[in-house]
Amino acid sequence: MQAYRKPTFYSSYNFKKIPQVEARLSKDEIFAIEVISKILPFKTNNYIVDQLINWENVPNDPMYILNFPQREMLSEAHFKRMADAILANQSDKELDFLANQIRMQLNPHPGGQMELNVPSLNGKRIEGLQHKYAETVLSFATYAQTCHAHCTFCFRWPQFVQMDGYKFAIDEARLMLEYLKVHTEVTDVLFTGGDSLFMTADQLSIYIDAILDANLEHIRNIRFGTKTLSYWPYRFISQFDAENTLEIFQKIIRHGKHVAFMAHFNHAIELSTPIVKDALIKIRNTGAEIRSQSPVMKHINDTSDIWADLWKEQVRLGIIPYYMFVARDTGAHDYFSLPLNRTFQIFNEAYKKVSGITRSVRGPVMSAGPGKVHITGISEIMGEKVFNLTFVQGRNPDWVNKPFYAKFDEEADWLEGLKPAFGEKEFFYEKEYKKIMNEADKLLIHS
Ligand SMILES: *Cc1c(COP(=O)(O)O)cnc(C)c1O
Ligand code: SF4
Repeated sequence: MQAYRKPTFYSSYNFKKIPQVEARLSKDEIFAIEVISKILPFKTNNYIVDQLINWENVPNDPMYILNFPQREMLSEAHFKRMADAILANQSDKELDFLANQIRMQLNPHPGGQMELNVPSLNGKRIEGLQHKYAETVLSFATYAQTCHAHCTFCFRWPQFVQMDGYKFAIDEARLMLEYLKVHTEVTDVLFTGGDSLFMTADQLSIYIDAILDANLEHIRNIRFGTKTLSYWPYRFISQFDAENTLEIFQKIIRHGKHVAFMAHFNHAIELSTPIVKDALIKIRNTGAEIRSQSPVMKHINDTSDIWADLWKEQVRLGIIPYYMFVARDTGAHDYFSLPLNRTFQIFNEAYKKVSGITRSVRGPVMSAGPGKVHITGISEIMGEKVFNLTFVQGRNPDWVNKPFYAKFDEEADWLEGLKPAFGEKEFFYEKEYKKIMNEADKLLIHS
């Protein structure tokens, strides 16, 4: 196998040149990719095309669906508008304008993340940081605002398509540091993106050295949100800065801090190649721990066997299963989403099939506006069928770990679709949540 040093990226401009695309896809399928990739991000690379996708299985191959736009990801009406515009040879400018119009109808910022989570220091908003849960600050580093490939279901998609004003970025580690210095309640800094490990070792060092050199005792854990292990494991083996990157992890650990990979794996196929196994060993040899999280998505990983296999394979390879998420209500949500009931059954059946050390996983979890809501069960209480819910993270920490109940609903696929059980008017947190939202709105209008 070839030890790639650099990826070859494919996007809407050059995907027709991929030999497997030419050989396997029909004219209609290729046109559909062209139409959708004008609106939603499309990016893949040679590792995925050559080693993860089984082209014999296309169009049903999960890795293909994970990366290549699918016709049904857009509504009939949206698809037709863009298809007609392309066939009418409209200019790039006109196509972009139409694309932005359509994107605005696809709920680009679910969970109020734009408005509410950007923190301030001395009255100035620090774009590029998010601070929603007390202990953990997210850093959206400038150079991490893309990935080695784009997942078709991604809720971060507005960051990749360059809509004005929608890109979180931090260009100064200094600003992050000033914020961290005064927020001693923070224990974790989670670098995210995009993909935090799209950054080169040099870029990453700017942020890491800032934290380490300042000797911030309260920062205990440095986390990296990343799908690089799935999409570009060569990053840790043969890429020009592979060794330097591993040294950064070692350096953090020498400073007495924990390095946590928040790795994103959707399917055991992503753990099957020799190169990803080598990369896992290299990373674990630095002392870093790897945890894994993924949403449940129709067409990609919607059976309990897929999940049981994924978790079992992870544990065998030294990865700690962490979160199973509910597909978020954004982008091509209709194509990927499953009812909460179904997602819960998938979790439950998979959970029964694995040993105790694999049951470190929590799920299904909705990462929603008020917090991370865990569906812990479906019960019948006093004759009423209900979802048992609890917050594993709350915008107000007092909400965490307090059981609450929603009326069972066969169709609901997100928190907003749920109604309180037992005749209650609203969930226990709603009054306070509305107040927080209103106050944040007022602040934004006046700032
Ligand atoms: C998920 C998430 C975190 C991290 O939560 P953990 O439960 O600590 O892994 C932090 N901030 C935001 C905004 C999140 O959505
Ligand atoms: S790797 Fe993560 S951030 Fe990047 S496209 Fe996939 S889900 Fe989105």
